[in-house]
Amino acid sequence: MTARVCVLGPSGRMGRAVLDAAAGRSDVKIVAAIDREGALGLGGEAVRGVIATADLGAGLSASDVYVDFTAPDATRVAARAAIAQRKAAVIGTTGLDAVDDDAIAELASLAPVVVAANFSLGVNLLLGLARKAAEVLGPEWDAEVVEVHHRGKRDSPSGTALAIARAIAAGHGVDYDRVKRHGRDGDVGARPRGEIGVSAVRGGDVVGEHVAYFFGPAERIEIGHRASSRTIFAAGALRAAAWVVGRPPGRYSMLDVLGFAS
Ligand code: NAD
Repeated sequence: MTARVCVLGPSGRMGRAVLDAAAGRSDVKIVAAIDREGALGLGGEAVRGVIATADLGAGLSASDVYVDFTAPDATRVAARAAIAQRKAAVIGTTGLDAVDDDAIAELASLAPVVVAANFSLGVNLLLGLARKAAEVLGPEWDAEVVEVHHRGKRDSPSGTALAIARAIAAGHGVDYDRVKRHGRDGDVGARPRGEIGVSAVRGGDVVGEHVAYFFGPAERIEIGHRASSRTIFAAGALRAAAWVVGRPPGRYSMLDVLGFAS
């Protein structure tokens, strides 16, 4: 079966990558593209051969599933519109807050929804490796995550860095929100045992780099991932789109799509 896909944000970096990745695939077909008023492509000129509209309801109606790499407010609006249609979704937008998460949770109670801060195979493997390392090493080894992204990235730290830090917290058996440290500035004192630090670097056109550090006495482990093309995220999201159509309602992760979930 070919899943009919509505792409949100086709004028964006990831939206264009999704349109590119869909070309030549038989498991998905792009049938609609939705962007905000004023975005490139809404004047009738095609982006990657697809003409975008601002009519979210019509775009969702024409499709089996929508793929969303936009911004938190757009993701919230799309999820609310999709609730009425019980539409399957693949959501990759990061920097979401509790209100955005509530809208996604409501949609996931009615339709199957894949949510992932990172759709690459390598990062999803890294999540498992980081959790395992934290389990084995324990909080005596100081754990830190450093991420690097292009200068246009809006949210910080990256959703992927947060997912890695949460995986480390899970490996330590602790609540992440009690041990997190996002950046350091001023007289912050000595590093408390068990803290999990996350630092963000921004510059140039870096697609995405993440390293999980584990510092032990006189030795350290680094588990890293470098993305050199958005193609990996786009291909992963389209694989998720083909996978999610027809599933029972619920919130799924990329680990479910890849068959890694225990
Ligand atoms: P971008 O700024 O290049 O593109 C954003 C797109 O969303 C544009 O087309 C824009 O017009 C559209 N948009 C923004 N606000 C909108 C609104 N209110 N209504 C309708 N459309 C709106 O951003 P990007 O680099 O493509 O990243 C988009 C999101 O995807 C970010 O949150 C980023 O962190 C995330 N991302 C996720 C992954 C992953 O694997 N999950 C990978 C890369 C990027």
